[in-house]
Amino acid sequence: KFTYNFSNVVVLGGGISGVGAALLASDRGYEVFLSNRDELDSAFAKALQTQNIPYETGTHSIDRILKASLIVKSPGIPDTAPLIVQVTEAGIPVISEIEFAASHTAETIVAVTGSNGKTTTTSLLGHVFQVAELDYTMGGNIGKSFAQQLVEGPAEHRLLEVSSFQLDGILNFKPHIAVLLNVTPDHLDRYDYKFENYIDSKMRIAMNQDENDFLVYNADDEAITSAIEKNKPKSTLVPFSMTRELEYGASLSNNTIKVAIDQTPFTMPIEQLSLKGQHNTANAMAAATTAKLLKIRKETIRQSMQSFQGVEHRLEQVLKINKVQYINDSKATNVNATFYALDSMEHPTVWIVGGVDKGNDYSQLFGLVNKHVKAIVCLGTDNSKIVNAFSGCVDQMVETNSMEDAVRVAYKLADAGDNVLLSPACASFDLFKNYEDRGRQFKDAVRGL
Ligand code: ADP
Repeated sequence: KFTYNFSNVVVLGGGISGVGAALLASDRGYEVFLSNRDELDSAFAKALQTQNIPYETGTHSIDRILKASLIVKSPGIPDTAPLIVQVTEAGIPVISEIEFAASHTAETIVAVTGSNGKTTTTSLLGHVFQVAELDYTMGGNIGKSFAQQLVEGPAEHRLLEVSSFQLDGILNFKPHIAVLLNVTPDHLDRYDYKFENYIDSKMRIAMNQDENDFLVYNADDEAITSAIEKNKPKSTLVPFSMTRELEYGASLSNNTIKVAIDQTPFTMPIEQLSLKGQHNTANAMAAATTAKLLKIRKETIRQSMQSFQGVEHRLEQVLKINKVQYINDSKATNVNATFYALDSMEHPTVWIVGGVDKGNDYSQLFGLVNKHVKAIVCLGTDNSKIVNAFSGCVDQMVETNSMEDAVRVAYKLADAGDNVLLSPACASFDLFKNYEDRGRQFKDAVRGL
């Protein structure tokens, strides 16, 4: 186990996690300094000032930074940044905020990771915890930082969404239950363009677990199963599968989820789940398994899986106008996420797609587009790749470059009984601030119809 010297903590990056780490360091009485390349959000600046935490913006003072006994790095800063190379060469440990926070608590950690579905599964599990009246907080890569939540007070359970960048900076982080949903190529620019490195990063979630801890993992995902074989985590392995009946773990048969890990198996027909779509069945299996491991009552799990309202921008049902259902899936920033969105469409769909292409391979969508999509509305500054990819698949394709336009066109193309789905498969930065902005503009435009 790595032993820390907390005498002089320097935090690099002043976003949610950096500011959280600085507040925790200050709360524990350490000397702390925060350095941020850009301006700080005014609320964050105020939080630091209120606690008299020294910080700088617009520059990194290397002399001050090199005095650190420990550096907490924000997930947005790559290991290859010259500053990180320099402090690492100077022998200063560089860790992530979840590692820093975890080293200040012995509370039970439940951590969820994966390429897609983290927020959905974490929020669903949070809802189960709430209905079960557990003493818990939910945060990490969503909502508040783990560090900030520790400052706010104790809790029995810490439910965390964690990203691969956060996992890259752990040394001792040891969740009691780790959930690994799926691993598909993403963020490869940060992993030397090697999928294997990215998989290894996700596997770090289990690296400090022992046999008293659990790794709930997707047994249908070959990247995960081979990584488990290779890394041999000491954790108790709890698989879930949509394709095979498992003696131990969660499986699906006759359209019913079955979690068999103790004397009292949990079962639930998928039609009772509030979240629709295959991918959400997988998310629900992972969540139900975790809840069962925590000995939450079956009836409570069932009730909460029926009442969960979903998360904004993830297949969010917006409005029905003239019997057309409008759905906001703005968070689908890659092809894999859009695959599952299209797969879950039960009515003919007018599909709004496009944005900043991240080297997308659209061919995996052809089958689903043929099956579910009646018209495509391209929304981006450069739609050529989408037009080329799908021109053979649908009769109607219209190019637009504003959300209002896209929604108006979709409105005209849709007939009673259809869906209008925004599931862009692309990043949002050409026309929007971020995916949230894109999703809100969609909802505003729909409400304006
Ligand atoms: P994350 O937090 O990992 O980015 P989200 O829960 O925010 O994941 O979902 C992101 C996108 O991925 C959404 O468009 C959602 O519909 C889709 N999605 C959710 N769960 C899964 C899953 N298990 N597999 C594939 N796609 C998923």
